[in-house]
Amino acid sequence: MITFSKISSASEQIIFLTEEQLKKNQAIKVSSDVQKQIKLLQKTKKFSAALHETFPVVIQKRFYLIVGLGKQKELTSTILRIAVRQAMLSVHFKKAKSIHCVIHDSSDESARGYVEGILLGSYQWKKYISETSNLGKKRINIDVSPKKLYQELVNVCDGVNLARDLVNDNADTVTSVFVEQTIKSIVKGKKNVSLEILNEKELKKKGLNLHLAVNQGSKYPPKLIIARYQGDPKSKKYIAIVGKGITFDTGGLNLKPSGYMETMRTDMGGAAAVIGILKNTISLKLKKNLLFVCAMAENAIGSGAYKPGDVIKSYSGKTVEIGNTDAEGRLVLADALGYISKNYKPEYVIDLATLTGACVVALGYDYTGLVSNDDKLANQILNSSKKTDDRAWQLPSYAELKDHLKSQYADLKSTGLPKGAAGTCSAAEFLRQFIGDAKWAHLDIAGTSFVEGSSRGYFGFGATGSGVRLLTDFLTN
Ligand SMILES: [Zn+2]
Repeated sequence: MITFSKISSASEQIIFLTEEQLKKNQAIKVSSDVQKQIKLLQKTKKFSAALHETFPVVIQKRFYLIVGLGKQKELTSTILRIAVRQAMLSVHFKKAKSIHCVIHDSSDESARGYVEGILLGSYQWKKYISETSNLGKKRINIDVSPKKLYQELVNVCDGVNLARDLVNDNADTVTSVFVEQTIKSIVKGKKNVSLEILNEKELKKKGLNLHLAVNQGSKYPPKLIIARYQGDPKSKKYIAIVGKGITFDTGGLNLKPSGYMETMRTDMGGAAAVIGILKNTISLKLKKNLLFVCAMAENAIGSGAYKPGDVIKSYSGKTVEIGNTDAEGRLVLADALGYISKNYKPEYVIDLATLTGACVVALGYDYTGLVSNDDKLANQILNSSKKTDDRAWQLPSYAELKDHLKSQYADLKSTGLPKGAAGTCSAAEFLRQFIGDAKWAHLDIAGTSFVEGSSRGYFGFGATGSGVRLLTDFLTN
């Protein structure tokens, strides 16, 4: 576990340097003894500050690790975070209790890189590993100023790591009931947050039949959880942040094959991101009116499961022919979007969903797919994407896509274009039918929310909390 604290005289040090700083022997905040040592290393060409190059030295019984950041002009925000992560996890600091980071540059952008490189980069999911964490407890000191920015960055990382915990844990742990309890504990005692929770009974009474259909093979209850946050009591305008929360996705009767189901506890990554953003909103005391919506269900199989070919009436009144039961996310979202549009009339709606494998085909694992009906909104989200390194890339939305959702039996069919053709856009087009007049953006985080294999960028394996930094920044600005 990492906590930030004041420097102690026993602290070990990491000194980050670019090649230019090394060559010019630029004054970074280290003692003259250390300066001399760095100068010597440069003179003797033992160290060039190339990216990821490290050099350990001991001066007067104190341990220092000098870390190269490469050329300044090639140092992107992503590369900085990766370098910080690698240094933090290096064998030299396995047993360190207290580390002082000497940073190469104190701009806001670099500060963001260092704090996130440390807090997001050193996150490890070890709940079920018997051996205790090899990272141990660490106190870290870092010269980030102003303190307000620093505290904000720490808060945002807490929200991201909470979302990661929720995604990484077992599907039978993080159920709809668990999510409800988590949200209740976050908003407890907050006078400007109220909850509306639609359980099975209310979902039936109000006619959220798509949501109910998806969950009907599960032993866990479906829930639509809405947290209403009032940060600007004078305004009646709301922004809704809506997350897909499928706690496990078997694919339903159109069962997923082996190799595609093993990570499906992560199909609630959208809802997890919503919870992370809610936590950040409260800790940052954002001055906006916001709705946080988690559409929770499990797509299980059994004699009760919903069936391909069924026609189901949505909350909005439109009937839907079920194309493939594995396209369940758009169904729970359709009812959630329809419900909040009618009952809360938000000005803006942004949804997050691990929605389509097609998004991974189109954009891979480093960019979230963005689809929007409003260019200004899309551009604001893209600006936040650049600033936070929580990346998004816009895909098109256009009227003709609706033609592909035609059904002979119902108002709409849940699956549009033939397999392999722009699945992300046609899934988004389906959602668009339920948003009413709101300005809307859809974030498909199917590729970005989870790392299979050992690590990606500055994330280790498992959940990344994608969307949390992106939308926290969007809401802050
Ligand atoms: Zn599915």
